[in-house]
Order: sequence, then C-alpha cells, then structure tokens
Amino acid sequence: MNEKAKNTWKNILDYVEDKINFQSFNTWFSSSQGVELKDDVLLVEFPNGFFIDWIEEHYYNILEEAVKELNGNSLRLAFKALKQQGDRPKKKKKRIILSHHATKLQERYAFENFVVGKNNEFAHAAALAVAEAPGEAYNPLFMYGGVGLGKTHLLQAIGNFVHRQYKKLNVLYTQAENIMTELIEAIQKNQQMEYKKKYRTKDILLIDDIQFLYGKERLQEEVFHTFNYLYSQGKQIVITSDRPPKEILTLAERLISRFQGGLVVDLQAPDLETRIAILQKKAESDNVKIPSNVAYYIASRVKSNIRELEGCLIRLLALSSLSGQEVTEQLAEEVLKDLFGPGCKVTRNVILKKVIEEFGFSEVELKGRKRTQKLALARQTSMYLIRIILNLSLAEIGEFFGGKDHSTVIHAVEKITNLKKTDIEYFQKLERIINRING
Ligand code: ADP
Ligand code: MG
Repeated sequence: MNEKAKNTWKNILDYVEDKINFQSFNTWFSSSQGVELKDDVLLVEFPNGFFIDWIEEHYYNILEEAVKELNGNSLRLAFKALKQQGDRPKKKKKRIILSHHATKLQERYAFENFVVGKNNEFAHAAALAVAEAPGEAYNPLFMYGGVGLGKTHLLQAIGNFVHRQYKKLNVLYTQAENIMTELIEAIQKNQQMEYKKKYRTKDILLIDDIQFLYGKERLQEEVFHTFNYLYSQGKQIVITSDRPPKEILTLAERLISRFQGGLVVDLQAPDLETRIAILQKKAESDNVKIPSNVAYYIASRVKSNIRELEGCLIRLLALSSLSGQEVTEQLAEEVLKDLFGPGCKVTRNVILKKVIEEFGFSEVELKGRKRTQKLALARQTSMYLIRIILNLSLAEIGEFFGGKDHSTVIHAVEKITNLKKTDIEYFQKLERIINRING
C-alpha cells in the first residue's frame, strides 16, 4: 500500500467529514481507501460500483472542493471498485472523475442510458434529432419539466453524443447559475470581452435550469444577445427549465417567438412501467439483477421523481452488499423508510395531496408562482407541514415547490406557526389535515 496515497485520501476525507452528516459519511466513505498516487492521479478504492455511482452523484462538488482546497488544482481523483456485483467475470472497473472541467459533461448521461416512455418520448426524440444534426433540426430546443424528470440527463446526452460524433464541434454545457457568476466576475475584473468570447465561440450551447434567470433582467438581456449571435451563426442552443417558457421569462418567450425553428417539449412524470424499466436498466448497468417484485415495490411507491427512484435503488443495493442480505421487498421497505422519514407512507407528495384535499388547489398551482391569498396560504401550509413532519431541509423544500428560495420557506414556517396560535378556524383546518396525513 502506498502511504502517500493513503494520507492524501485521509486528508480529503477529513475535509468531507466536516461538511456532511455523520451517517452519510459513515455509509459512503468509511470503507474507501486511497491506494495509489501516480502522476497527480489519486486512485481510490470503494467496495463496489454502487458506492462510486452514489458518490459521483452526491458528493462530486464537495470532493472537488476538497481537492482544490488541499491540493490546488493539480490532483485528480480516480475511483475503482474493489469488486463487481453479480456473478459476471470480474473485471476491474475504473473511472476517472473530476477531469472533465471544460464541459462538465458526465458520461453516464447518455442516450443509451435513457429509458423512453410515453412521458418523455417527444423530448427524447427532439433531443436526439438535435444531437444528430446540431443547428439544423430544432433551434433553439427548449425542454421543461419537474424536478428529477431527466432534463439534465437529456441535455448532457446531447453534449456527450456530439462530443463523440463530431469531435471538432465546440460544446459548452453550463448551468444558468454559472453564467451569472461569471458575468458578475467579468464585470468586476473588466473582462467582458473574454466572457463574450467564451460563449460566442461555441457550436453548441447547452444551458441547464434557465429558470434561475427569473427576475434578473440585466442578465437575461446579456444571454439573449448571446443567443441571438449564436443563432445567426447557425449554432445550436438547447435550454432546460423547470416550467414552461411563458411562465418564467421574458427571455424565454422572446427566444421562442423570435427564432423560427424553435421547439418546446415537456417531460412528464413516468408511469409505473417506465419506472420499473428505469430501475431495471439502472441495475443492469451495475451488473445486478433485482427481483421483479422488488422493482415493482419501489416503483409503485416512488412516483414523481426519478432521482429519488434511483436513490432508493442505490441505497438498497449498497445496504444489501454491505450487510450481506438478499435484495427483498423487506429490505426495500427499510430503505424507503429511511429515505422518506417515519411511517414510510408519509412523503412530501402525501402531505401535498392532503393539503390539496382540504384547500382544493392543484399541485401545479401549489408549486407555481401565483400568489393569491388563499393559494399562498395553502402553499405555506404544505411547506410548514413538510418541514415539521419530514424535517426536510429548507433548500429541499424550496426545490420541491418549483425552485423557491429558502427564505420563502422560512417565512412560510413562521407565518403558519403564528397563525395557528391566533386563528382558531385555521388551527382546526390544520388539525384535520394532520389527522388525514396520519391516516
Ligand atoms: P432534472 O434535471 O430534470 O431534475 P435529471 O436529468 O438530473 O433530472 O434526472 C435525475 C436522475 O434520474 C438522473 O440520475 C437521471 O440519469 C435519471 N433519469 C431521469 N430520467 C431518466 C430516464 N428516462 N431513464 C433513465 N434515467 C433517468
Ligand atoms: Mg437538472
């Protein structure tokens, strides 16, 4: 064993341990080991591929931060699975991460790994058409849908496809949030030219989560000019958002109306069969088989968010391989309980549903931006209940309600806490909802 590798990784872990909760750290990192340090690449070993998946998905940023903090930019991490799942011949799996800074495309977001169902077939077809003929099929392509429904996956799949197929084309994937940070920095440092150049020299510009620009008019203006320029040069633009263009941005609206040949597609929540297919595909790509009753069990309980669906599976498989237990419905039940809080059946969606039954709005309205008095009260009530019953973080709750700021959630919790003390009618209403949630 290479002492230097061991120590380097240990230092990174110390850093990470400070930043994430103890249980997560224990589950995911305690069995890892730095095994080799060569040419600025630190090779780290994990028990199996699920760990690596999970860590890439959840701890990418923090690892990146740790590496930067402790080792400057010189170090890169490579992950290796100690053993493969299933009984296929063992071949060592090795993946390099933290090495694709230029585009931040993640290889696993590929068309091959994307399960097509009724909910997303149109978006998938449009994305594929764009990837095959950038700048020629639909331009700009605007994809929207709720959290965890595959927007980023499809967007990056376009990038990965083009990257592979047309090596000469210059692809840039970025989150709208980054554009803002960069623009502000450019203005401060008086480097607007560099900023312009960065965006205007791309053949394909992939912008994720453009709803972030909501209310930021100056930034929208800048982005619009960039789009205009790229479009006039026949370059491809693809945008994602968590809601339809007309609900969010003057920019988006202008974009769609301005550019002929643009296309707007949406992603819906997958139906049961598609959810089962996604679970099976995911398991397959990790060389495991999950019993179909277990896939059914999970898929019938986790309905609206594919990220959560995947999260359940990864955790289930990790738990099974750590404890040596078979993958059964029972084990799945434990995992679900763990992920969604007490009582297992109470989830964010259950709470939302009960509030809707009492107040009579739709889910879309509750997660939307409209703020009539009654609607705002229903929304705040849901936020409050999710916070006190499930103890989710403010950010998570904000995200669940269509990307609202955490201060909005704080405000909701405070408001309801006061209201139930002063308004007896409201108090009774709240009691009714809680009783229904408890079944
Ligand atoms: P969004 O950007 O819409 O919030 P993501 O694209 O990040 O959602 O998707 C969440 C997770 O679910 C990702 O890990 C992604 O790979 C997976 N996923 C989403 N849709 C599909 C699909 N149709 N087939 C396979 N995996 C999917
Ligand atoms: Mg996304």
